[in-house]
Amino acid sequence: MRAPFFCCLVEFVPKDGVVLMKISRLFLPLAGLMLLAAPPKSGIDRAALDPTCKPCDDFWRYANGGWVDKNPIPAKYPVWGSFVTLEEQNSEKLRGILEESAKQTSGPAAKVGAYYAACLDTAAMDRLGLKPLEPMFARIAQISNLSGLSNEILAMEKVSIAAPITVYADSDYKNSSQVIMMLDVSGLSLPEREYYFKDDDRSKNIRTEFVKHIAKMHELTGVPADQAAKLATTIMAFETKLAETRMKLVDRRNPDNTYNKTDLAGLKTAAPGFSWNALIDAEGLSQTIAINVEDMGALKGFGERLKDTPLDTWKAYLKWRWLNSTAASLAKAYRDQNFYFKRTVLAGVKEMEPRWQTCSAETDGAMGEQLGQVFVAKYFPPAAKARMMTLVENMRATLRDEIPGVPFMGPATKKAAIDKLNSFFPKVGYPDKWRDYSALTITRDNFFANELASRAFEHRYTMSQAGKPVDRAKWGMTPPTVNAYYNPSLNEIVFPAGILQPPFFDMEADDAANYGAIGAVIGHEMGHGFDDQGSKFDSLGNLRDWWTEEDRKKFDERAACIVDQFDTIDVGDGLKHNGRLVTGEAMGDVGGLTLAYKAYKRSLKGKEGPVIDGFTADQRFFLAFARVWGMHERPEHRRMAVQTDPHPIAKWRVNGTLANMPEFFAAFSCKRGQTMVRPEEKRCKLW
Ligand SMILES: [Zn+2]
Repeated sequence: MRAPFFCCLVEFVPKDGVVLMKISRLFLPLAGLMLLAAPPKSGIDRAALDPTCKPCDDFWRYANGGWVDKNPIPAKYPVWGSFVTLEEQNSEKLRGILEESAKQTSGPAAKVGAYYAACLDTAAMDRLGLKPLEPMFARIAQISNLSGLSNEILAMEKVSIAAPITVYADSDYKNSSQVIMMLDVSGLSLPEREYYFKDDDRSKNIRTEFVKHIAKMHELTGVPADQAAKLATTIMAFETKLAETRMKLVDRRNPDNTYNKTDLAGLKTAAPGFSWNALIDAEGLSQTIAINVEDMGALKGFGERLKDTPLDTWKAYLKWRWLNSTAASLAKAYRDQNFYFKRTVLAGVKEMEPRWQTCSAETDGAMGEQLGQVFVAKYFPPAAKARMMTLVENMRATLRDEIPGVPFMGPATKKAAIDKLNSFFPKVGYPDKWRDYSALTITRDNFFANELASRAFEHRYTMSQAGKPVDRAKWGMTPPTVNAYYNPSLNEIVFPAGILQPPFFDMEADDAANYGAIGAVIGHEMGHGFDDQGSKFDSLGNLRDWWTEEDRKKFDERAACIVDQFDTIDVGDGLKHNGRLVTGEAMGDVGGLTLAYKAYKRSLKGKEGPVIDGFTADQRFFLAFARVWGMHERPEHRRMAVQTDPHPIAKWRVNGTLANMPEFFAAFSCKRGQTMVRPEEKRCKLW
């Protein structure tokens, strides 16, 4: 399942090393939080702290140093800490469900079980060797003209292999109740366009390794070494050409840049030479369907490449894209080489995770809403959903109280902001309506075939929504996912069951810890409704400027404060954060934590929070927040994340956020001049 276009709390690089940048009520009455019979736990693990580090020097280290020192990054991971440990616990739970399912012989559980069993059967994958790709390679060998080339690009697009076309369906940004066709042109095998151009030593080295990797993969298919090396150079040169016309990541953040609504005629004008009619037919859509082109420059570039690139280069590229995109489902030699480049070279990972873990994640990706039904029935009690809804509504009420006093909004903007807040639609735990996988065919002995069938099924599911009214019940993440998201087109905030566990959410813990952890997560997602992207969508989810010009200017100044702050943050290895890339996420963090703090205070109704385990309520609030970001990462991964991920590095989500918050300084008696305290005139504030 794809992540929603506008995203989320964290973005881990998926197993194949490519960052996916897109896809994509029962309101409880507002009440005080649940009163618990037994005295509540503090929710703070003292052993995780580093008491030798002063909270006002490096709060991330103070809150997490004990844990980090005792928990080096396991060889199989690029990152280790809160999110990943919880993911690991969830995958253990899924493993139990999957092993049970694999024993079934009929019904939906049996299909899930068969997918898992076929994934575990690496011996069968090894026996097949390159066989699964032979039909595709034979088709490519036959291509003799543009029409043949178009056909293969279409066949790849239907299983979500961008070569370089990607098609999916999503809400029309300017008419959010309607789903239209979305088209993007990408097709890069390195994580992001800048990887093709940056000229520091590490980037140059990655490119050298990448060319070697392409050659090696070809050698595995039986191509002689000298020919493989030539192909690798040709493919690298071609991908670099594609990268040249691709929009920069920071520019893609602006929805005005990625909204280019057109139609079939528009596609033909932008990139003549491609069989656009055939594409629309293949998707089963009307020739009059509305189409949004995300990256018009890249589309025109694609048209140019159809004209100026020799057919043999195209054919080499298509073969490579098949190989590259399916290598993890092929025989061992391919899986190993693929792992070496995408996980070791790019992310610093030393060894593969156990096969069952890969297969648990693969099955969640392929049939997550089938698997998720069992997961939530077993592990997500109704009381957790109820308490979470109460937290969400308390946060909403707090922001409703705050908006009238916000200095950067005039009366008209405030009214629109309250409309937007009132129509925020929270989804908690799991979908009300589950997806039906009966049209997906799975066999027990061919993982490659299952993988392709699942991709095609997913693609058809998405495309079946194009040209229709939006289905508000659909989810962009599966229930076991440890993440959360805001989707501006639906104006919804979504929290899968997978994240609603400690250290994010603890049914037994005192409120201070829950507001600091999951409260800040809720506030973060709400904050996305008002960040550099989300603030451009109105209460109905339409891309429309609902700000007065003057208010927008003041808002932009607040965003610029965050850009400036993060531009100066040194993350180590001579790298700095890219302020423009992380603005939205960092604004979500600053706004979200402030809101969670105010909501906590509001829930106390004027009383003082209790002291538990030697910490004041405010101290526990900030410690719980910092523990959510108790993660450390390999330098290779950090380097990749700083270039591709709109989320700041964990340490800076804590220290960067708290350095702006006087409530934090008061809780730990931090004084001006200490590292954690940003001078007053430089502090960034959303609410
Ligand atoms: Zn986010």
